[in-house]
Amino acid sequence: MAIVEPVSSPSAEGRRRLRIKSPVTLEPIGEIEVQTAGDVASALDRAREAQVEWGARTVEERAHVLKRALAVLIRRQDDVIETVMRETGKARGEAIQMEVFAACDSLGYYAKRAPRLLRAEKRSLHGMLRLVKKLKVHYRPLGVVGIITPWNGPFILSLNPCAQALVAGNAVLLKPSEVTPFSGAMVAEIFAEAGLPEGVLQVLTGDGETGAALAEAAVDKIAFTGSVATGRKVAAACAARLVPCTLELGGKDPMIVCADTDIESAASGALAGAFMNTGQYCCGTERVYVVDEIADDFIEAVTRRASQLRQGGEGEFDVGAIFWDKQLDIIESHVEDAIAKGAKVLVGGRRNPDYDGLFYEPTVLADVDHDMLVMREETFGPVVPIMRVADEAEALRLANDSRYGLSATIWTKDSHKATELALQIQAGGVCVNDMTLTYGCQEAPFGGLRESGVGQVNGDQGLKGYCHVMPIISDRLAGKASQSFYPYSFKKDAKMQRLIKLLWGTSLGRMLG
Ligand code: NAD
Repeated sequence: MAIVEPVSSPSAEGRRRLRIKSPVTLEPIGEIEVQTAGDVASALDRAREAQVEWGARTVEERAHVLKRALAVLIRRQDDVIETVMRETGKARGEAIQMEVFAACDSLGYYAKRAPRLLRAEKRSLHGMLRLVKKLKVHYRPLGVVGIITPWNGPFILSLNPCAQALVAGNAVLLKPSEVTPFSGAMVAEIFAEAGLPEGVLQVLTGDGETGAALAEAAVDKIAFTGSVATGRKVAAACAARLVPCTLELGGKDPMIVCADTDIESAASGALAGAFMNTGQYCCGTERVYVVDEIADDFIEAVTRRASQLRQGGEGEFDVGAIFWDKQLDIIESHVEDAIAKGAKVLVGGRRNPDYDGLFYEPTVLADVDHDMLVMREETFGPVVPIMRVADEAEALRLANDSRYGLSATIWTKDSHKATELALQIQAGGVCVNDMTLTYGCQEAPFGGLRESGVGQVNGDQGLKGYCHVMPIISDRLAGKASQSFYPYSFKKDAKMQRLIKLLWGTSLGRMLG
């Protein structure tokens, strides 16, 4: 029942081959070759060559290719939806919203804003320096960026970093997950149709072998999205070569439900947070803390709504398949562990017996505690464990009792309290009265604390992360100032010490500083 299985005969060139199956029907949907370190090196050579001309174009010219890619995507959205659904089994609405809508937003956002965000900018200098020097900051491409992506958002999580790296002038080597390689390939297809020059964006197919070869290749940055365990290996490979990386890793996002919240809205949010993408959402709701005062009503509302969800693999349905058999095993083991330790199953709690494919029923658990895996480790499935707490202080303490820190949600009508609580949470970002939308909100820097990651992506900051931000400091006196540097003398030293006193020891100096 493995979704990714080895094909016994290698390719004509001797590469390993993998067969990919549908998680819904378990029927084969295609094969890929596992590209080797040699393939990665050849792709890197082509990328280096192609990057020279691409990086020399203006940001406006590169943004124009993003605009054309957006037009291609709008026209070909059904192909993307169909490809994503075929290899993930996610609900059509999710393929549209999470993959296509978000990808359009990403392309539109960077196509429109990159020329302004990456324009060389004059910055005024402080103090006396401004009299003799001027500063201009330039955003230069890094060169070739390796982008390694997971299977849960196979199109958007590949397209979004590619759009940013490309518009910044880099060439990209994209390594999509072996579980969902065809959605990753579509990203390159769309850019190629939009007129991106050959070699600027290349897709490397394969599994961990290919990913590791890319992380170890002589690229200029790695943007990695995936699990904590692989993230550590990627970080080590980048550290060995002293190249930067961003690591967008797993999470165990808490939801805090305060006594004054609108119970039905919070229940609806818990469902969306826990079951969207069949719970395989990096910043999905993985654990809920509800204050005792409203716990009965909240649990009743979540249970009622969860029982009405329709699971399926074709036609109209709300909750789709689990995308990968390995994840299904993890989900099952977390729920079994919770039940063995005293958790109560209110809805679901088992593989869906109506299907042969990878289906786990939308599950609501109560009477959970922090001794259970389901409250401590990333479950990444359609499971919402709800824990009753005495008050918000206890909720906050438990929310922070985690090795992860990706994001969190807080539910209350009191916006002041929401901010107060949010500022005490150990998480990369917080969403108030909504499921976590921080990845979908381009202006919001996205990235986790603790083991959830290193660095932030998206928006102004994320885009500039694909650049070397180069200051050019030039003089206003046509080189004359440097003529008086040597020789040193006691007279000059005394002058300098008087200047220090004037600049930082007097109110006039501090005003000018
Ligand atoms: P994974 O770490 O197993 O794989 C991610 C990618 O890394 C795949 O392309 C894989 O082939 C590749 N890879 C495997 N071994 C490698 C190695 N040694 N060196 C380099 N690359 C290697 O993760 P996954 O199971 O595909 O994805 C699920 C995880 O991703 C979850 O933990 C989820 O929370 C996380 N995720 C995080 C974010 C975020 O933005 N923080 C977003 C989506 C998913």
